Amino acid sequence: MPNSDALATVDPDVHEAIEAERRRQESDLDLIASENHVSRAVLEAQGSVLTNKYAEGYPGARYYGGCEHVDRVEELAIERAKALFGADHVNVQPHSGTQANMGVYFATLEPGDTILSLDLTHGGHLSHGHHVNFSGQLYDVTQYGVDPETGYVDYDELAELAAECEPAMIVSGASAYPREFEYDRIGEIAADVDAFHLADVAHVTGLIAAGVHANPVGSADFVTGSTHKTIRAGRGGIIMTDEEHADDVDSAIFPGGQGGPLMHNVAGKAVGFGEALEPEFEAYAERVVENATLMAETFIDRGLGVVSGGTDKHLVLVDLRDSHPDLTGDDAESILESVGITVNKNTVPGETRSPFVTSGIRVGTAAATTRGFGPDEIETVADRIVDLLDRPDDEELASTVSAEIDELCADNPIYE
Ligand SMILES: *Cc1c(COP(=O)(O)O)cnc(C)c1O
Repeated sequence: MPNSDALATVDPDVHEAIEAERRRQESDLDLIASENHVSRAVLEAQGSVLTNKYAEGYPGARYYGGCEHVDRVEELAIERAKALFGADHVNVQPHSGTQANMGVYFATLEPGDTILSLDLTHGGHLSHGHHVNFSGQLYDVTQYGVDPETGYVDYDELAELAAECEPAMIVSGASAYPREFEYDRIGEIAADVDAFHLADVAHVTGLIAAGVHANPVGSADFVTGSTHKTIRAGRGGIIMTDEEHADDVDSAIFPGGQGGPLMHNVAGKAVGFGEALEPEFEAYAERVVENATLMAETFIDRGLGVVSGGTDKHLVLVDLRDSHPDLTGDDAESILESVGITVNKNTVPGETRSPFVTSGIRVGTAAATTRGFGPDEIETVADRIVDLLDRPDDEELASTVSAEIDELCADNPIYE
């Protein structure tokens, strides 16, 4: 059924836009650190008849009839997540990572309680208490940062702030922090002030599942994640916790913050988690980190500023201020886009420009590695990125690089 031509016949406009997006994904190189390419099997599960089914509640305890098959799907997603992460309790219903965080806050906090989290301009996330997000509107927020010299989280400052503001929740995790968090240390700081520790592993869910990144499950009180970044299980969120907090989390998601689960997405999670249990996934995750490390080294050799001097994971944060003071993150994003390389502008620690302009770019290797890019391709791409940033007005260079990217992408198809 998913391969039928119903869409092309019934709605050529939407069909053509989807086809154009498919071609864009094939022909451009996706270096956005939060994106990836799911398998055809995940696409098929997400495009299935499960989108028709209401399943408010949890497996075995639903508010609707006819749930025996979707129960099985959700149980598979839960079992596989438990096997991947070693969690006692898993909730696979959050529609997104933000809603996973919302579930944990609703399960544990009262409005007005204090959250201590990483500053957005230092790599944090909107759902960690930014004023434009519900989390910043419902809760008091204090933020810790990274040491401007080293680019690493300043844990001494974190401990001092915790003692001062007495948070109910300390949040670790970030969207643009290239290093591993010291989860145990944050757990100790949280315990000292009687706060919960929420480890939001959105970006590194897949790296943790593969054992190439520290796993906070078991030490943090709550672990939330995305299922579409370094793990290829389709768009959505997940919460992991212990038996003690299981019921509170489940009721904070449903009925607290969501209605019926998106069972087609839960099926995508089950399939993607199943794929991540295969031995090839560990090799994939290792290559993702090797590729990012090589990308960082190449940038540094070519004179770019790299926050924290490298990376432990799938992303590199480039700070352009020293090497290219007149080039903004926004400029860099546009230059690269024009040759078919997709990255995003990103604020850097100590940022002086607005979030729409920025002084940095975030470069990730999870999607490129999925389509088969190895060290040779990554080194070429990293070199070309620096060439373009050095000579942003060189049209001949841009057209050569554009052709080179086309060829690299054609040699490494995603779905063909
Ligand atoms: C991506 C991300 C999320 C989740 O984002 P959604 O778009 O809501 O799925 C949450 N926390 C962090 C740190 C992230 O990077």
